[in-house]
Amino acid sequence: MLYIDGKWTESESKNSFPVFNPADGQEINKVADGNRNDTKKAIEAAASSFRNWSRLTAYERSSYLYRAYEIMMKRKEELAQLMTLEQGKPLKSSRNEVQYAADFLLWYAEEAKRVYGEVIPSSRRDQRFISIRKAIGVVGAITPWNYPVSMITRKIAPALAAGCTIVLKPAEETPLCAMEVFKVFDDAGIPNGVVNLISSTNAEMVGNELLTNPAVKKITFTGSTEVGKFIAEKAARNVKRVSMELGGHAPFIVYEDADPVHSAKGVALVKFLNAGQACISPNRIFVHRSIAEEFTNTLIDRVRKLRAGNGLEEGISIGPLVNEAAIEKVDGQVRDAVERGATLELGGYRLKENGLDKGVFYAPTILSGVHKDMRIFREETFGPVAPISIFDNSEEVIEMANDTHYGLAAYVYTKDISKAMRAFEELNFGIIGINDINPTAASAPFGGMNESGLGREGGKEGIEEYLETKLGGFSI
Ligand code: ADP
Repeated sequence: MLYIDGKWTESESKNSFPVFNPADGQEINKVADGNRNDTKKAIEAAASSFRNWSRLTAYERSSYLYRAYEIMMKRKEELAQLMTLEQGKPLKSSRNEVQYAADFLLWYAEEAKRVYGEVIPSSRRDQRFISIRKAIGVVGAITPWNYPVSMITRKIAPALAAGCTIVLKPAEETPLCAMEVFKVFDDAGIPNGVVNLISSTNAEMVGNELLTNPAVKKITFTGSTEVGKFIAEKAARNVKRVSMELGGHAPFIVYEDADPVHSAKGVALVKFLNAGQACISPNRIFVHRSIAEEFTNTLIDRVRKLRAGNGLEEGISIGPLVNEAAIEKVDGQVRDAVERGATLELGGYRLKENGLDKGVFYAPTILSGVHKDMRIFREETFGPVAPISIFDNSEEVIEMANDTHYGLAAYVYTKDISKAMRAFEELNFGIIGINDINPTAASAPFGGMNESGLGREGGKEGIEEYLETKLGGFSI
């Protein structure tokens, strides 16, 4: 169902599309297939509710967000189960994601009250300047399937806090999660028209309406760099603001003084989260030659124990990939690396045993001897493959890590404070984990440099993306 102007409705076209469980290929449900007219109606609803919503006090908007937070927390288990069914990640990861998603509602319920203006000195005695921050207006939001709940609240919570109204198009692979999030908003009593949901199989059609309709003032997008560029280009033609969270190719640097066992355990955890389908997933693991053997052996040991399967079952830590194309891409990168001289330490094939052939599973894989002429060294993998490269020189490794057009996340393991600080300052990435594999939280700014994106989500920066500055010059 679509959610337009506070009502659940079919598409005007009466069309619907099926949603499948990637673990077994079974159809879970059907949802409405929104078209251009549905999108227009949603934008009209968002535009006509903007005046009232943006005029509420920050305290009033905050109370809706608190309510949504409380409802989402009450439904944490149901939402997590649905997420595993629809997206495939292990249930424990789904629970973590729902918590992360709810954290944005809570954080922006608080930040809503901290939007300040300024009084600016004038060079004229008879003049006063005051700047205030105002909500931008209607926001078009486009989200991906890999984090199907948190990517929605990460956009909608700050937009609502700022006073914006929204039309969201979720990924066609995960519309059921989006519907559940909108049920939370509906039950929190958010006024009609303030949040609107258009699920659709025709992303470009919905996107075109959002990108060309003059009522939409801002586009916020999370997805691939390729689609992000296309959207940014169209948005620019209509002078719409954009925020972009795009792809990544994270380096993970393990210096000679790091603990090889501890850092290998870190990689085993972060690389295989969500089966590697995360934009901050390590994609180039640089290990100093002196500890490479111990590091690699520990990693192999750990990864060998990871079990792939249906995320609803106990003890599963690797879920399915999103679709057949993902398997082909991952497998293609592995084969290319091996052909160019990499060593396959573990995995490297599609899993088909024990009923896994009904889903889209790839074996947790480790490659060593990876170098810059391999595709995996340049292209985002979005799958469960850990590619290891050896380095000798601490200066060179920063250069090697920066040698990418991406710039989202990077990880550094060292006990040497100077090395840590230098790496933090010199790596051209927006998020840097120092001896830390989870440098993300609702309170912290998330976003990329270079072709990994524009703007930040989360933190005090996140709400800025939905505000503009208005200046008053007063003659007195
Ligand atoms: P991913 O590789 O994560 O699937 P995509 O960039 O393909 O990333 O998709 C992210 C989101 O962008 C999804 O909601 C998808 O439907 C949407 N999308 C894809 N192509 C377009 C387009 N041409 N216009 C607008 N949205 C699009």
